[in-house]
Amino acid sequence: MLIKRAWDSFLSLLFPDICIACENVLINQEFFICTACNYHLPINDHHVVQRNAAYQRLLGKSEIDMAWSYLSFTKNSRTQKLIHSLKYHRAFKVGEIFGIKLGKQILASHYYTEIDLIVPIPIHKSKLRNRSYNQSDFIAQGLAIAIGKPINNTDLVRLINTQSQTEKGRLDRYDNVLDVFGCINTESFKGKHILLVDDVLTTGATMAAAANTLLEACDCKVSVATLAIA
Ligand SMILES: [Zn+2]
Repeated sequence: MLIKRAWDSFLSLLFPDICIACENVLINQEFFICTACNYHLPINDHHVVQRNAAYQRLLGKSEIDMAWSYLSFTKNSRTQKLIHSLKYHRAFKVGEIFGIKLGKQILASHYYTEIDLIVPIPIHKSKLRNRSYNQSDFIAQGLAIAIGKPINNTDLVRLINTQSQTEKGRLDRYDNVLDVFGCINTESFKGKHILLVDDVLTTGATMAAAANTLLEACDCKVSVATLAIA
């Protein structure tokens, strides 16, 4: 045990862990983000405001029940670096830990009504082959730990592959956004209050398309949780 600890210390001298937001070397007890960056994260108050920015973003696009986005997302911000590390550098723990924080905030919401099922927004199977994971699965895992509800990441599927940079334009051009996602087993969602999960809420087009697919196909309620809102 002592030898292992000494070896770990030796390794950390050679390859120190660095903060994913500012790249300063992490000190004892700090895990993937330094204390200063963690303190300065722009945490939203969506749990106390029912018609918050996330909810408003989806107004007129989808008949969702409730919405929460944990952090504010701006260009070159700590939030962007955090999400980038989850999305492209396999920082799975970031998804899980911030999913737990988001889940605790959801449970503390003044207007919370019970969620039955957590559904991460799926990525297209060709993208999954290239990237090997869907970042939203890890956020969903954190939410499942905090809320204590199961995840279904198999029965809502993405039928059309969209590129992230051009997603806004392409999705907005679809006259029938219901074509983007499909429900392969409506029974899984029937009568349930579903929490749809994604990393960032931007125009809301992707989220609304997924929510509308579920609302059209199944007799269900849909609420929305994202790690950040741009
Ligand atoms: Zn930092």
